[in-house]
Amino acid sequence: MDDKSAPVNLKSPIIVSACLLGFECRYDLKKSSGIKFKIPKGAVLIPLCPEQLGGLPTPRSKSMFLGGDGECVIKGLAKVVNEDGADVTDNFIKGADAAKRISCITRACSAILKDKSPSCGTHIVMISDEFKKGLGVTSSILNGMGLCIVNEYGRSITEQE
Ligand code: SF4
Repeated sequence: MDDKSAPVNLKSPIIVSACLLGFECRYDLKKSSGIKFKIPKGAVLIPLCPEQLGGLPTPRSKSMFLGGDGECVIKGLAKVVNEDGADVTDNFIKGADAAKRISCITRACSAILKDKSPSCGTHIVMISDEFKKGLGVTSSILNGMGLCIVNEYGRSITEQE
């Protein structure tokens, strides 16, 4: 974390992509670069990893979207496949549903999510081997619930170029 101030709308409790807090849950077990702004003092953080909650192992094969982003997956218009060619859409939806339940139980107001992930992406995701504008499956669900969502740099999900 660095000294940049937290986004003003980021109210506690805050759901956080667990990899951003140092949990070893990334598909490749690599360390995430972490949160690039100061967390509000006294904030309650709720770490979760939607892909683990969806039943996928760690480490696991890298996944990407086919046919659209996470919003399209929720509408049944796209799917998630891994690099071995397996359809893992159900795991991603299950993980997003678990994140939704945890957000409700904890009465989360905000979320800090790791961009570029097919679950947690806030601005850019991989669709058919290319990074494109879009949301992850979990980001899309939490956004629909009205949470204030920012990525690890503090950029709001509503600031789409
Ligand atoms: Fe991090 Fe989200 Fe990927 Fe889990 S699913 S490793 S929390 S970016």
